[in-house]
Amino acid sequence: MSSETNVTNWSDLNLSPEMLDLIEKAGYKAPTPVQEKAIPLVIAGHDVLVSSQTGSGKTASFVIPTVERFKGKNGTYILALSPTREIAQQTGAVFETFGAPFGLRTVVCIGGASIPLEKEALASSPHIIVATPGRLVDHLERGNVWLDFIQCLIFDEADRMLDMGFASQIEKISEQIPKERQSLMFSATFAPKVEKLARQVMRDPKQVTIEKAEGSVPKIDQRLFWMEEGKKPSALVRLVREEPGTVIIFAKSKERVYQVWRSLEDKKIAATYIHSDIPQKDREAAIADFKSGKFQVLVATDVMGRGIDVDDVAHVVNYDVPREAEDYIHRIGRTGRRGKTGMATTFAIPVKDEQGIRAIEKLRGIKSPEKPAPSAAHQGQSKPRGQGPQRGNDRARDTRPRDVGPRDARPRDDRPRDERPREARPAHSPKVSRPESASVVALPEAAKPNKIVSFFKKLFNK
Ligand code: AMP
Repeated sequence: MSSETNVTNWSDLNLSPEMLDLIEKAGYKAPTPVQEKAIPLVIAGHDVLVSSQTGSGKTASFVIPTVERFKGKNGTYILALSPTREIAQQTGAVFETFGAPFGLRTVVCIGGASIPLEKEALASSPHIIVATPGRLVDHLERGNVWLDFIQCLIFDEADRMLDMGFASQIEKISEQIPKERQSLMFSATFAPKVEKLARQVMRDPKQVTIEKAEGSVPKIDQRLFWMEEGKKPSALVRLVREEPGTVIIFAKSKERVYQVWRSLEDKKIAATYIHSDIPQKDREAAIADFKSGKFQVLVATDVMGRGIDVDDVAHVVNYDVPREAEDYIHRIGRTGRRGKTGMATTFAIPVKDEQGIRAIEKLRGIKSPEKPAPSAAHQGQSKPRGQGPQRGNDRARDTRPRDVGPRDARPRDDRPRDERPREARPAHSPKVSRPESASVVALPEAAKPNKIVSFFKKLFNK
């Protein structure tokens, strides 16, 4: 199909033969919906405001057209701002893939990396800079970089950058860039603060919103379980043991991450973890080990978890209800990627977490769900999941007991993770794949689980 409104082939997007070649080499068979819509607008030089979830292919939707638009010019003309080091590195890698073959050089500037080395790299006038806002302001203040030649400013995951308190740095950076420029903004949500920033930094932007029907919204089977704090560790262990795929667990603090990891280790479950106190190299190694299947479970804080680009995450667990409602969307966006059906489970404490759950509803403008009934929430009833209406029929449940196999047979190593040589850490069974049929998790549930589950499902049906 090649009508303007229904483009499905890369060749319909007016890209150069060289770029089409690179896309083919990258294995991108067809453009994703965000790519179909954003690429022509970016190539035409518009400011574009894009609402799309992580995992929708948004990075390539700004990298491919900006490289096409600016290749062959001299000077530093593209600046992409990313919320975290990991996302900046991933974005830098995508610019390498599609820009380096055209002779474009990319420099990534991130906290934790060497300032003198970055200074040297910036002095070499790269064509593209990818940076976290804090580090870029640091370079600006040291006089290591000038932004006078920037012609395209990209805000990736703008909502997240604002949530992380980067508003003033973003303002400082935007002020240094010529007004005659192209601005592209990507955000999972259009929270009021994102709209405000867009009004400040963009000019008459074209808006791209990816609808669910277009396939970009992940298919995520969402569940909410009300339970007391003390029940969480055993509920988690059970859930992980019954989940054949990979699991990312989000916890609210570093201490909490360690606590959760410890409780899994105690049960000989192959888990690793990341948080901001862990050196960058170790974090990268932990993510690589998780990606390779060496560990079934990764425990993370919100900020760290955001940068994890793993396509095969079967299940996201919100061990703690997120502090910010927007984090819920970001967290569960780790699963259900690239057309697969994911699973997201939230553990909420009756009364204490009600406000947080309400905030998640409010974010999406959804009507309040039934209140949990404290009596039932405390009873720890077990009931096979899947009794309510389900999304994602390809993840049909199998209630047969599973053999947890090698995980239970692993030797115990009681040393803290950081003190253990990598090779001595428990090896997880080979690369985890997503079976057609996965087992059922039976956990304590609220009195009206179906209503609550269906409420959560509405978040993504909207
Ligand atoms: P992103 O939303 O940018 O984080 O991308 C999510 C994943 O999708 C990354 O692993 C990309 O390499 C991959 N990807 C991006 N565009 C395509 C495409 N058109 N076809 C297949 N995979 C893609």
